[in-house]
Amino acid sequence: MNSAITRLADDLSGAESVHDFHAALRRALGWYDQLNQTRVEQSSIQLVCRAGCSLCCWLRVDATAPEIFLIADTLRAELSPEALQPLQQRLAAHAQTVGRMTVLEHATRNVACPLSRDGWCSVYEVRPHTCRRHHSQDLAACQFTHDHPEDLEFPGAHHRELFEELTEAMGMHAAVYEYFGYDATVYELGSALEEALADPACWLRWRGKKKAFRRASVTPSG
Ligand code: SF4
Repeated sequence: MNSAITRLADDLSGAESVHDFHAALRRALGWYDQLNQTRVEQSSIQLVCRAGCSLCCWLRVDATAPEIFLIADTLRAELSPEALQPLQQRLAAHAQTVGRMTVLEHATRNVACPLSRDGWCSVYEVRPHTCRRHHSQDLAACQFTHDHPEDLEFPGAHHRELFEELTEAMGMHAAVYEYFGYDATVYELGSALEEALADPACWLRWRGKKKAFRRASVTPSG
């Protein structure tokens, strides 16, 4: 794990352009997927996750500013302005909904990720760490959580050690950005993405080592 963190630190210390920052994050996400896959292969973990299942895409999604900018720029590159507009409208509606909730209320209700289309992730290649961390050993448990979002005591379907290791790796990744002075606040994905697409100043603030987003919902640390 440490070599990947060192590589990210090297990448960030030399990063100048938006392209450099996106390339550094893509490499880090690739390493994260590799860590995840290696651990699953090395152990007897049997995952039931499959393409087209989106039960975890109704949970609150946390993401850091660089992850949100990577998604925003990918969408801008892939979609025409006409195709981007309905997504921006969906994101604005989502931001309004989330903005009326406390974090706990959001965590105990089903709110569909605005990037999920017909059960598929529309930004799969650049989805944030939190989405990559999700995994399940028990489809019935996922269904129960989806049907009873208010039941936070339900143990869920994760493999505990794998989840903890992936959470630790995610935290170390964010800590590297923080070390270099960049905003490493944990934002709610949809509301922050709405802001990133609407206001180019968000990127300039983050690049200037200030807080990137002003309206987006924030997940408190700890
Ligand atoms: S970003 Fe993609 S994987 Fe993550 S919750 Fe949204 S649709 Fe699901």
